[in-house]
Amino acid sequence: MCGIIGCISRENCYEKLLSSLARLEYRGYDSAGVCLLSDSGTLRVRKKKGYVSNLAGKPIPGGAGIGHTRWATHGKPSDENAHPHLCGKFALVHNGIIENYAALKEELLVQGDVFLSETDSEVIVHLLSHAYRGDFLGALREVCARLCGSYALAVLCADYPGQIAAARRGSPLVAGAAKGALYVCSDVPALCGEAEFLCPVEDGEFVLLSDAVRVFDGQGRQIERSFTRVKSEQRAASVAEGTFMQAEIAQVPRALRDTLEGLEGTDFAPCARALRGAKRIWCAACGTAYHAALSFADVLAEKGVCDVFCTTSSEFRYKTPLIGAEDVFVAVSQSGETADTLEAARLAKSRGAFLIGITNVADSSLSRLVHFNIAMRAGPEIAVAATKSYNAQLLCLFYLAAQLVFFKKGSFPLWKGELRLLPERAEECFGTFGQMSALAAKLISAKGMFFLGRNADFPTALEGALKVREIACLFAEGYPAGELKHGSLALVEEGFPVFALSTREALFAKTENALAEVRARGAYTILLSQSEQALSQSCAHCKVLLPKICAPLYPVLSVLPLQYFACRLSLLRGMDPDKPRNLAKSVTVE
Ligand code: GLU
Repeated sequence: MCGIIGCISRENCYEKLLSSLARLEYRGYDSAGVCLLSDSGTLRVRKKKGYVSNLAGKPIPGGAGIGHTRWATHGKPSDENAHPHLCGKFALVHNGIIENYAALKEELLVQGDVFLSETDSEVIVHLLSHAYRGDFLGALREVCARLCGSYALAVLCADYPGQIAAARRGSPLVAGAAKGALYVCSDVPALCGEAEFLCPVEDGEFVLLSDAVRVFDGQGRQIERSFTRVKSEQRAASVAEGTFMQAEIAQVPRALRDTLEGLEGTDFAPCARALRGAKRIWCAACGTAYHAALSFADVLAEKGVCDVFCTTSSEFRYKTPLIGAEDVFVAVSQSGETADTLEAARLAKSRGAFLIGITNVADSSLSRLVHFNIAMRAGPEIAVAATKSYNAQLLCLFYLAAQLVFFKKGSFPLWKGELRLLPERAEECFGTFGQMSALAAKLISAKGMFFLGRNADFPTALEGALKVREIACLFAEGYPAGELKHGSLALVEEGFPVFALSTREALFAKTENALAEVRARGAYTILLSQSEQALSQSCAHCKVLLPKICAPLYPVLSVLPLQYFACRLSLLRGMDPDKPRNLAKSVTVE
């Protein structure tokens, strides 16, 4: 979601800003802008609604510059509301939300300030202008102390050519260095290819880029920070042809292989005591990651090791959960920067729970916050809608579940041995794609669809429906197969598509009943199952055979045809599956 970049470079500063902004694009945005500061202290801005490519043109001179991709929260996407915002000697880019902006704006209006945008961010640059008495970083510290909400900021001051000040609270920020250039940026992938060394910036810290990167605490005391070399898996991905989403679905087997290799090399001893003694397990996440969390709860419930509570992070953080020092809290976030999940994890930490994180981005805020981090190693995921990261999240969570069973009961569950079959079985799932493609063509004009599943198939049904909503912009709902007739069956009419997942032998007949009920009301029915018998006996119009694996592991595989189906449907409906309407990749605001 949105992004900021700051760059100091004697050469090609403007070009470097633009290429970093292009690498931030995958996060989702609606406008973009840059401002460069020349050696003589002139600030020059170019900002536009729409794509980063709209900023191309004659290079703007200057050895220090800031850039922004905006995901509008306050004020519509427009040239005026695009960042950077200027006031007096200052130019500023901001990610996040200033929750007390209305009161601050009121105060500034009384003093006669004139605002050029509807954004909350513009108040910050006005406050800076008022607070400034010659000390650039001092003014920023003073202003930040007045802000409520979340921010990552990068600021230029006309009195300080060749310098950038930055600050962070609640929104991601990282500093980077390369030969001849220094950076601050909201995400690591956007700096890859530019920076060779990275240094994290923590909440409440300030950064000054000049001849070097200097990090300060809230009192202005310099903090020693070491830099780490950019790792190869952090490098941004590129795609030769097709969409990122197609490429990322094709990468699922490789992602599963890499993730499993990483898991097998991970020492779980540091969390042994917490897992063995865990009274309750909590698992919090948002969106797709929440569906992975539901599957985690399913495999654990089946083993009956302890109570498992699965929750969306945004709900957890505003409830009064009975979580305490004997509990383990598992937070799942692809980016490791999901604002709601970070807050939920902080709440759990404050109650004394042992925190385990599952993230795909090394050095992300979540990975630094938790007591024990499990790296997903799915590789960079650029398409906004998650695909391979979901399969990898499930694998990590199942692996963690196996460790938990081992620490609690002294032996691993039988299915642990089959985890290594997943990459190959995922490849076999590609055999269903021809059928899914034909289905997408058939259902191109559908007004909506249902995805049904029972027990372990239910989270997969939710995920299939979410994919269709996200990238094909079509109403779709996931339901427990037995729930449909308690209300939503009213929506089924002639030709209405209903997908059913049926991977649990004991429940084949029950799921078939649900299909028969919707078919009797005119639905077009599609059944996915690994059982030839279940398929042959089914009344479904379309039957999709899944590869075989032991029952608890199906969620990792059965979602693949649904991911592919949604991607094809999106393309056939003339949409860009990589950049779905209104959505952003890592949701760094509440
Ligand atoms: N709240 C600010 C705005 O609406 C910043 C949004 C962003 O993070 O891109 O302009």
